[in-house]
Amino acid sequence: AAKADGGRHRRYDGDLDDRAGEEARLGAELRTALDAGEFHLVYQPIVELPYGNVVAVESLVRWWNPERGYVGPDVFIPVAERTGLIVELGEWILRTACRQYAQWWRQGVAPHRFGVNVSARQLAEPGFVDLVAAVLAETGVHPARLVVEVTETAVFGGGAAVRAVRELTELGVEIALDDFGTGHSSLGLLQTLPVRVLKVDKSFVENVTMAGRHAVIATSLIQVANGLGLVAVAEGVETAEQAAELYRIGYRRAQGYHFGRPAMAQLTTAEQVAA
Ligand code: C2E
Ligand code: CA
Ligand code: CA
Ligand code: CA
Repeated sequence: AAKADGGRHRRYDGDLDDRAGEEARLGAELRTALDAGEFHLVYQPIVELPYGNVVAVESLVRWWNPERGYVGPDVFIPVAERTGLIVELGEWILRTACRQYAQWWRQGVAPHRFGVNVSARQLAEPGFVDLVAAVLAETGVHPARLVVEVTETAVFGGGAAVRAVRELTELGVEIALDDFGTGHSSLGLLQTLPVRVLKVDKSFVENVTMAGRHAVIATSLIQVANGLGLVAVAEGVETAEQAAELYRIGYRRAQGYHFGRPAMAQLTTAEQVAA
């Protein structure tokens, strides 16, 4: 038995080493990938219910590597956070999204607003708000057009991240609380943070057409948002039935495959649609 346990123990350590090794490799490759221009952004529409007219877009980062193929942001963003590359990658994302928005604006096809995801580490980084102000000035984008999407966990610790949120608001930038309802202190945060948009997590949207806990929570969250004068966006809407039910219980904003998948910028401009 001792021998078997010993074997299992060694195997377990081996897995850990493999995982640590893979993480280190991925971290190093991300660095190279940024310099090699392997990242790009896609944009997903956020629509108004019930008609589905586009009112905003959310930018989402994509990484295509010749050897690995596509790697999802759920995989590489946490690694970039741990290595610190997220600060530089995040700056690239912000600048690229702002440049794209400025181009849409010049072409007369800009949606009302555009969202950029900002991770915890980026938000707490000294100089982040100055960077946002500089990139907006450099690209000529009005601050009120930008929505910075932050997760509850990013602002949970308070301190630098909360200060950054306040300063961004003073700048005129809007703040959206992402994955709302999945964190530890969703409602508590609303008492102190100058948030204007709640992005209601897709886990509550998924089962909204069935009587049950998720539908009750989705209903409660829209009531909280309306009561506080906030905008709630239902995330991950995949069917017409979900959209209809969300509208019925009071949602006026939605995002999801039913309305549009994340797509390259060129495909979303009016010129391309007309062509
Ligand atoms: P998120 O900010 O909650 O983004 C929404 C995710 O849901 C996106 O996944 C999007 O493609 C996906 N999605 C949209 N509609 C539907 C739907 O109808 N059904 C389903 N099942 N999924 C839908 P994605 O692009 O893989 O991004 C995953 C997460 O990675 C994001 O979650 C965000 O936390 C992070 N992320 C993505 N882009 C960036 C970025 O530029 N910067 C940072 N810091 N994080 C990012
Ligand atoms: Ca988001
Ligand atoms: Ca989300
Ligand atoms: Ca998410």
